[in-house]
Amino acid sequence: MATLVNPADINPRQVANKSDKKALLEAIRMTLGVQSAAIRLNTQTFNRNRYAATGRLADYDQLKDRARQIKEQAIANLPGLVEQLEASVRANGGHFYLAKTAADANAYIRDVLMRHEVKLVVKGKSMTSEETKLNHALEAVGIKVAESDLAEFILQVADEQPSHIVAPALHYSRERITALFKRKFTTDLPLDTGEELTKFAREILREQFIAADAGISGANLIAADSGSIMLVESEGNIRMTTTLPPVHIAIAGIEKVVPSRTDFATFIELLPRSGTGQPLTSYVSILHPPLKATPFMAPGKTAKPREFHMVLIDNGRSRMREDPVLHEALYCIRCSACLNSCANFETVGGHAFGGETYSGGIGGSWEAGTGPLMNARFSELCTACSRCVPNCPVRIDIPWLNENLRQRMNFAQRSSGTKSAFGALTGSAPEDRTAPLQKQFFGNYSALGKWGTEVAGLANASTNLPGARSMMESVFGVDRRRTLPPFPKKTWEQLYREESGVKPGALPTGVVMLADVFTNYGAPERGMAAIRVLRAIGLDVVLSPAMPDGRAAMSQGMIETARLQARAIAPMLRRYLDEGRKIVVLEPSVLAMLRRDFKHLLDGDDTQALLAQNSYEPLEYLWKIAQEQGLDLAQTFPAAKCPHGTRLFYHSHCQQRTCNAATQTVDVLRAAGFDVVTSSVECCGMAGSFGYKHEYYEMSMAVGEDLFAQVQQADGEGGPRTLVASGISCHEQLFAGMGREVVHPAELLASTLE
Ligand code: SF4
Ligand code: SF4
Repeated sequence: MATLVNPADINPRQVANKSDKKALLEAIRMTLGVQSAAIRLNTQTFNRNRYAATGRLADYDQLKDRARQIKEQAIANLPGLVEQLEASVRANGGHFYLAKTAADANAYIRDVLMRHEVKLVVKGKSMTSEETKLNHALEAVGIKVAESDLAEFILQVADEQPSHIVAPALHYSRERITALFKRKFTTDLPLDTGEELTKFAREILREQFIAADAGISGANLIAADSGSIMLVESEGNIRMTTTLPPVHIAIAGIEKVVPSRTDFATFIELLPRSGTGQPLTSYVSILHPPLKATPFMAPGKTAKPREFHMVLIDNGRSRMREDPVLHEALYCIRCSACLNSCANFETVGGHAFGGETYSGGIGGSWEAGTGPLMNARFSELCTACSRCVPNCPVRIDIPWLNENLRQRMNFAQRSSGTKSAFGALTGSAPEDRTAPLQKQFFGNYSALGKWGTEVAGLANASTNLPGARSMMESVFGVDRRRTLPPFPKKTWEQLYREESGVKPGALPTGVVMLADVFTNYGAPERGMAAIRVLRAIGLDVVLSPAMPDGRAAMSQGMIETARLQARAIAPMLRRYLDEGRKIVVLEPSVLAMLRRDFKHLLDGDDTQALLAQNSYEPLEYLWKIAQEQGLDLAQTFPAAKCPHGTRLFYHSHCQQRTCNAATQTVDVLRAAGFDVVTSSVECCGMAGSFGYKHEYYEMSMAVGEDLFAQVQQADGEGGPRTLVASGISCHEQLFAGMGREVVHPAELLASTLE
C-alpha cells in the first residue's frame, strides 16, 4: 500500500464507492490513520454492553428464534403484506406509495413537498433515505434538509456518509467534532465538552424544528394490519420530526413490514440490546399516522391540517427476495450487533468496511442487493471468522452471505490462461478458475502444502529469499513482511505412521483424529501432541488420511471447489461415524466446517447433522470425558512438570468460540494446575489467509494490537506468560506481534507427560 495518498487528505465521500479496489485500500489507510481510535472505543463499548444486556435475558435464544420466525414469514408473505399495509394506510386517511426505484421514491417525496411549498424539511435518521440519496434530490430543487439526529447533523456539516448503521458518526472523537464545528460555524463558545457540543447543536436544530414545514422519518418496523410504525431512538428528535410539522413522510424499505403490531414486542426487546446494549432506548414511539393532534404552528404561520405519506421502497429488494442466498439479508433489523462484534469493523469502521450506505458484515449484501455487485467489494474485509453470527438477533449467517458475494465477484472476473492453468494444477473446480491468482493460491492450500512438504528443504530455503518473496507478493499477493512458517520435513500422517507403526485410519475402534490439511502440512508435531494427550486418558485414537475439507477454498469464495472437497471427504467421515467413532479436529476452522458449514455444501442425507453432534475440538473432548469419568487431570497432566511454566496467556480461536468449544480448554488447563489469563478480543486479525494478503497486512496487524496489548498487560502482572493459542493462524499472529514462541494447549499437556 506504499503508493497510497496521505490519509488526512481524503474525505470519506471520495472513497465511499469501493467498486474500485484502490478506493478500498485508500479507505483502509484513511481509517487506520484518522478514525481507528474513536471507532474502537465506541464499537467495543457497544459490544461489551451488548454482552451484558443480552446475558441478562433469560429467554435470549427463544427471542432470537421468534424474531427469525417473524421475519422469515413476513418476507415469505411480503407481497400480500404490502397490499394489506396499503389498505390500512389509506383506511387511516394516509397516502401510500410503493416506489420501484430510489429515483421514484425521491421524485414522489419531492413532488409532495413542492405541492406544499415546503422550504425546509426536518429529517430523522433514516438509512433508507441515505440509500436513495434523498437529501441531494431535495436540495437540487431548493428544499433545505435539516438532519435532526445529532450524528447525522455532524455528518451533514462534514459532508460525510455514515460509518455505522446505528451511530453514523461513531468515527468522530469529541475533539474532532469540536474542530469541525469551529471550522464550519462562527462561534466564541469553547465547545470543549460533550454537553457544550450537544447544546450548541440543539439550539441550531430547535430553530429548524420550529421553522420546518414537513418532517421525514424512517421506520424500524411497520405493521401491515394497522399501518402503525415503530420507531426507536435515543434523542427524541424523531418524535419531534413526526409530530411537530403538519406533513409527515415515512420512508422505509419493503422488508420493514411485519404482519401485526403485536410483532413489535419481540424486536423492542432485541433491537436496543443488540445495538447499543441498552435494555430500552430512551424513546420508543409506536405511531398510528396521520396523528389526530393539531400540528405545531410557529407564530405567523398558517395552520394546516395533518397529512401523512408512507413511501415504501423496493429498489432491488424483490430481486433479493428471489435470490437463494441474499434473501436472508432481508431479515436484518439493522441493529449493528454484527458490526460491533467484528474485530475488523472495530478497527476500521464503516468508511473502510462499508459502502456508500451500508456497512459491516451485512453491508455487502445490502449494497449488492440495492446496487451493482462490485459495490460490495468491501465485503472482502469479512474474514468469515463467524464472531457476529451468534450475536445477530435474527440469526443471519453473515459469513456465508459474504462468501457467496466473493464467489459472484470471482465469477465476474475475466478468465486468463494463467489463472486456468494454475487452477487446474492446484485443484480449483472449473467454475472457480476465473478467481484471482491470490484466491486460488490461498484457496488450494492442501495442494501447496503437499508440494511444500515433499521438497521441504528446498521450499524453505527458497521461499524466504528476497527475490522469491517479492515474486510471491507480486504474483500471489503474499505480503513479504509476514514470516512464512516453514514446511515440516514430515507430515502428520508420516509422523503418525512412524510412531504408531500403522497406516492412518487402520485401527478399528475409538476416536479418529481428522488429519486436517493445515495441521498435516503446517504443524504435524502439534497433531502428534494431541494424539498423545488423548491416549494419556485411555482413549484409543487413530488418525484419518489427510484430505482437504473445503475450508481454505470457501474462505476465498471458491465455493464450487469447497463443495467438491466436502463431498469427497464426507463418505470417509460417514464411515467413521457409522463405526461409532467420535471425530476430533485440531484446527478450529475445520471443526466449524464439520459442525456448521457443511450444511451449505452437503445435501441429500443426514451426514452433516451427525457430524455436528459427533465432532469435537481435542480439549473439548478431553474435558467431556474427564467430567463423565471423574478423571483427575492434575494427576495425568501435572502443570508443575511443564517445561513452559505454569503461567499462561491463552487466546482461543474465533470459530472455536462460535462452536462453543473454547471454554473447555481453559477448564482443562486450570484443572491441570495452570494459571490461565485469557484474551477477550473477538479475533486476532490474522484469520487464516487474511493476514498474509499484501493489501490487508497493515489492517491485520492493526486488528492484532488489542490482543498484543492484553498480552503486555498480563505480562506486567508478574512477568512474561507462556503464549498459548489453538488456531494455526492465531499462532502466526501472536508470534508476529510478540516475537515469542507460541504453543498449542495440546503441546503443553503433552509436555507434562514426558
Ligand atoms: S464473520 Fe467475522 S469478519 Fe465477517 S462480518 Fe462477521 S465478525 Fe466480521
Ligand atoms: S445482520 Fe443481524 S446483527 Fe447485523 S445488523 Fe442485521 S440484524 Fe443486526
